[in-house]
Amino acid sequence: MNSKNLNSEPIYTGRFAPSPTGPLHFGSLIAAVASYLDAKANQGLWLVRMEDLDPPREAEGAAEIILDQLQALDLSWDGDVLYQSSRLTQYQESLKELMNRELCFYCDCTRPRIKSLGSVYDGHCRAITCPPEGEHAIRVLTEDRVIAFEDLVQGDYQQNIQSEIGDFVILRKDKLFAYQLAVVVDDAFQGITHIIRGFDLIDSTPRQIYLQQLLGLATPIYGHIPVIVNEQGQKLSKQHFATPINANNGSRLIHYSLQFLGLSPPELNKTAPIKEQLEWGTEMWDIQAVPKLANIPQNSLEMD
Ligand code: GLU
Ligand code: ZN
Repeated sequence: MNSKNLNSEPIYTGRFAPSPTGPLHFGSLIAAVASYLDAKANQGLWLVRMEDLDPPREAEGAAEIILDQLQALDLSWDGDVLYQSSRLTQYQESLKELMNRELCFYCDCTRPRIKSLGSVYDGHCRAITCPPEGEHAIRVLTEDRVIAFEDLVQGDYQQNIQSEIGDFVILRKDKLFAYQLAVVVDDAFQGITHIIRGFDLIDSTPRQIYLQQLLGLATPIYGHIPVIVNEQGQKLSKQHFATPINANNGSRLIHYSLQFLGLSPPELNKTAPIKEQLEWGTEMWDIQAVPKLANIPQNSLEMD
C-alpha cells in the first residue's frame, strides 16, 4: 500500500521529534516506537525531526547517536531528518507576523518575579510594545477561552490557556525561539497530520493549537502516551540519569516497548529479529489499547 490518496495528499504523516540532550533511553524509545507503529499501521509516513534548538541543553554528538540508535533498532524514517537549527528564518517570519499583528509583547520580568507568580503569568508586561533596553522575552497574548481537543489515548482534554498558563513565551530571554513556536511552525511545514508523543507534553498542546489558530495552520490529531517515571515521580530523562538504551539488546527492547504500549507479544518474541517484531506490532497495533495513564513507574516494569 502506499501512503498517498488519489490527490496525492498524504493521509497520515507522523513524526518523532527528539531533543538531542543525550542518547535515547527506554522512555524516549517508547515515544519513537509508538509514533512509528501508529504511522505504519495507518500506512503513513514517519518523519524524524531533530529538535536542536537549545544548545545549552544539548550534548555533543547526541543527535548522531540518536539516529544511529533508531537505525540499529530498524526504526527507519521517511525522507531526510529535519534539523530545527536550520529553520531559524522560518521561526523569525512567524514571530514577525505575530508581532505585526500586535499579538505579542515584550516581557522584562525578572526570574524571581516570574517564579513568585507560580505557574501562571499575570500579563504584567502586556503594555510593553517597544523592546526594553535590558534582557527581555517575547510573549504571545492569550485569550480567555477554553481550547479543547480529543486525544487519541487520553480522551477529552481542555485548558483555558489564559487562566491556567497565561501569556506564554515564544522568544526566550536568551534569544532562542521557544519550543512552542518552533514545533508548530515545523509540524505545519512537514505536513504532520498525527502527533503521538509523551503525556508530559499534553499541557503544551492547547498552546500549540492556539498558535496554529493564530497562524492559520491546520491542527493535527494528537495522542499522548504514558511516560515512565522514576521513584521520585520524575520523567526518565538525561537530567535524571536514565540509562541509555543499548541497541545490542534491540530485540528485547522492542519486545518490552510493545508490551508497555498495551500489546501482548508472545514471550518467544523477545529473541525474534526486530524487523519481525515491528511487523507484528504494526499488525496488532491498537492505539486504544495503550494504557490511559499519565505516568508509569519504572520499578513497575517487568523487564529482565
Ligand atoms: N523535542 C521534544 C522532547 O524531546 C518533543 C517534542 C514533541 O514531540 O512535540 O521532549
Ligand atoms: Zn513580564
